Amino acid sequence: MSLFAFSRSPKNRWLRIAPSGIDGMGAFARKRIPSDTEIGRYTGERIAKDVSRRRLQEGNRFIFYLNEQFDLDGDRADNLCKYLNHSCDANCESRWRNGHIGIFTLRAVAPGEELTINYGYDLDNYRLFPCRCRAKNCVGYMVAEEFFDRLRQTNANLPSNSETGESPARD
Ligand SMILES: [Zn+2]
Repeated sequence: MSLFAFSRSPKNRWLRIAPSGIDGMGAFARKRIPSDTEIGRYTGERIAKDVSRRRLQEGNRFIFYLNEQFDLDGDRADNLCKYLNHSCDANCESRWRNGHIGIFTLRAVAPGEELTINYGYDLDNYRLFPCRCRAKNCVGYMVAEEFFDRLRQTNANLPSNSETGESPARD
């Protein structure tokens, strides 16, 4: 009996695609996944930066940074890794492996847990990319970990962040 009899979507032994509480569809662990496991490859079309910019403007959310010259457009059906949502406490990361981009677990993942990755955005227009990952350390926007501290400092100075409206404690 073939699994393909039930679905036309490509199969992956580690993950399945389902609606996500973070955003749209997400990738979830089919079973326990050990740390340091390659759960799939991020595949797509290699495109030049000008093409990449145009597609980003058109709303393509699956552009993956390759190098200074090229990006990868992962918006195709056989690229299940495109479904990994961003998280400020990601349990996966991308790594170069012999000419391909592998997605690896950073720790053991429980069955049913959503697989996430940090999209690694910089601070350009970060307000356009609010984060709903619900991690304890969520900084509110989808930026690379190296910018977490700067974003926390920036947002600490915003009036909108002081929800209680309390004045500083008096002694
Ligand atoms: Zn977050």
